[in-house]
Amino acid sequence: MIFQDFFGYKNIGNVCKIIINRDNRIQLPDPVFGTFEVKQDYLPDWAENRFNVILPGLFKNKTDGQIIASFEAGSQKYPVIIQKQNCLIFNFDPEETLKFLNNENYLQTMKSKSILAKSPISTNLIPEKVKTCLRNIMTTPWVTKILKKNIFRSKYPFPKWPIEKSGDTIRFIILRCLESVTGNNIETTPFWPDGKKFAVALTHDVDTDWLFRNNNYRAIADIENKYGIKSAWLFVSNTYEFDTRIMEKLRKNGHEIGFHSDNHDSKFAFLDQAEMDRRLNNSSWFFDKYNVKGFRSPAFLHTYKMYKGLSRYISYDCSYWDTCDTIENTGSNNSGSCTVFPFNIENVVILPTTIPQDWVCSSLVGKNHKKILQMQLDKYQYIKKVNGLVCVLTHPEPGLSVQPEFLKAYDGFLREISNDKDAYLAPPYKIADWWNTRIHKS
Ligand SMILES: [Zn+2]
Repeated sequence: MIFQDFFGYKNIGNVCKIIINRDNRIQLPDPVFGTFEVKQDYLPDWAENRFNVILPGLFKNKTDGQIIASFEAGSQKYPVIIQKQNCLIFNFDPEETLKFLNNENYLQTMKSKSILAKSPISTNLIPEKVKTCLRNIMTTPWVTKILKKNIFRSKYPFPKWPIEKSGDTIRFIILRCLESVTGNNIETTPFWPDGKKFAVALTHDVDTDWLFRNNNYRAIADIENKYGIKSAWLFVSNTYEFDTRIMEKLRKNGHEIGFHSDNHDSKFAFLDQAEMDRRLNNSSWFFDKYNVKGFRSPAFLHTYKMYKGLSRYISYDCSYWDTCDTIENTGSNNSGSCTVFPFNIENVVILPTTIPQDWVCSSLVGKNHKKILQMQLDKYQYIKKVNGLVCVLTHPEPGLSVQPEFLKAYDGFLREISNDKDAYLAPPYKIADWWNTRIHKS
């Protein structure tokens, strides 16, 4: 059971019986959007007792007992977790629900994903000056307001941005239910090594060769080196010339090299197996030369089938947000894995990106480093409480993360985490390795 793997507790089947009414599916327009409501005693202190979520389905209630949680959809209220003596009865499938949320299967009920995937041209072909100009326009609060009001609208108010708690709340509610039935605290395995309370992964998407010119890479690398933090630099393997001297410098300083696709078009995630294999094969020189373990898809576009091809080359992926705004998505609906913890697809560990990007923050609060930093720190504080993964993305590009206000915010963020004794700071490949070992050990 994924909950047992996730929390890493021993088998409790002898003291607690779990029944899931799978064969009694209610005929509803499923998946079904509604409000989950749970008794206060079963909540972790960082969660709310009423929250919106989309469930993959509901089952008919066949049992009397104490109702711990219910789900309100339309004008109906359905009991979804019931306790009867040493028995927990679920009228929804928690495992199916978690996978459904993590993999974003709820998006079937919404409009199609990003317009980028449909664009016939690669964003790489847009001249740098035009891109910078567009970015400056896009990151202005009044433009964002107009876009959000008129174009970038989400069909459901779900997932909530910048914090979506549903997936993790459901997990911790179930742990509390198990504790209540067994009458004691359940011994769980720590999420992170060395007594650390949360993990931090820093990543950079290197879309162009800008950072190779005039030692531009130092704009970001110097800040990280100042605080002694190691990050992952994700490169596009087959579109620009690499400055091997700079690549070696990054590696020598303990940073990691990752893969940001072969040519940064928006088609990668949607390729058929043969074409994907061909393109990955063309990048094998890069995987070998730089000992690549991680990937992020251009514009975060991902499909389930993409991981089949990738799993032979990489061990972790950052192509999911935990929650993603319509502005970020350049599309018409929110999306995200609804968790701030890693999860698995195929053999790949997904490290969801969890800290709102600098330019997205600035599109709401303006180019003001204090306000941008505050938005990012608010999220970090939440993740720390949950014991999850802080995963940051920056773009070493003009018009993006190297703007002075964005660099100041980044410096402030790194200062904060480098002073935090509870933070497990490691290059992303180590975080993914740890998570894999932890899940398979428990
Ligand atoms: Zn990119």
